[in-house]
Amino acid sequence: MGLDNSNSTSIFAFASFFNFFMKKSTAPGFLALFIPSLLFLMSCSSPSDTGDKKTKIICTTGMVADLVEQVTGDVATVNHVIPSGLDPHTYKPTPQNISEIMSADIVIYSGIGLEAKLEEILENYGKKDGKFVFSLGEGLPDSSLIYVEDGHSVDPHFWFDIDLWSKATSHVENELSSHMPAFQLEFTDRASKYRSSLSDLKDWAQTELNQIPNGQRVLVTVHDAFSYFGASFDVQVRGLLGISPELDAGVQDVSSLVDFLVQNKIAAVFVEESLPTRTMEAVVAGCQNYGHNVSLGEKLYADNVGAAGTPQDNYLGMFKHNVKTIVNALK
Ligand SMILES: [Zn+2]
Repeated sequence: MGLDNSNSTSIFAFASFFNFFMKKSTAPGFLALFIPSLLFLMSCSSPSDTGDKKTKIICTTGMVADLVEQVTGDVATVNHVIPSGLDPHTYKPTPQNISEIMSADIVIYSGIGLEAKLEEILENYGKKDGKFVFSLGEGLPDSSLIYVEDGHSVDPHFWFDIDLWSKATSHVENELSSHMPAFQLEFTDRASKYRSSLSDLKDWAQTELNQIPNGQRVLVTVHDAFSYFGASFDVQVRGLLGISPELDAGVQDVSSLVDFLVQNKIAAVFVEESLPTRTMEAVVAGCQNYGHNVSLGEKLYADNVGAAGTPQDNYLGMFKHNVKTIVNALK
């Protein structure tokens, strides 16, 4: 393949991106693998080779990609880089991910701190290359967000407030309409139908969750991902780990949670799809030592949708799975 214009542009973009990445990275081993792999990938593909004229949109998680696809239908190709089952808080991009991001027309991420390792790369790279980059979180009013600890950090798990997911849908509709005005009517129509499905989902979830008796309306999970869910549906939430599940729970965290569960006679605790279960198993064993049987509920989806082809591979299916799992264990 000759060095045509699109490739020299890509390589220039790569050079400026690489400069940025060099300043940020402290892992020479990773870079040694990263550079040749990326150059190889770039030599194999460029957007002009495919003949595909559709706008290419790259998202971070499958959940973001699902929302975007609900709005675009088939007028764009929508893909995501973080595989289902991996934790987006700690996910580090692979060379192939970077290549996918670089060859996209539009990049959309969840934001407000979720994709901690990717967010700065996405924003800086977007600014350098003039690519259209935006997050769902930036479309939400500050007053609707939950702040944590010192009051300066935002809890990024806003999708568990269905009204906020609906607002994020409107944000995607507006941003894509301004960027691709030829499709504005289609985007508006599809977004409006999706918001209507979200409104039905909220009514259904409220009815289901009403089956849980008052004393059992407590959701105990591995990390603090369900505060928006708790505020929406009047459920008390408690996570063993913080907002980002990077740290292991200490003995004190485990024993204080055990005390809480025993004193309040809570029937079940839950593990999460993308996080290890062993610490929660220690909590269950701790409760048994006090003669209180706590069941370990099925896995909940906290930060992403399920694997492609499963009923949970989209937001509506993921949310229904979580609600059914919570109600079955606590009612
Ligand atoms: Zn999370």
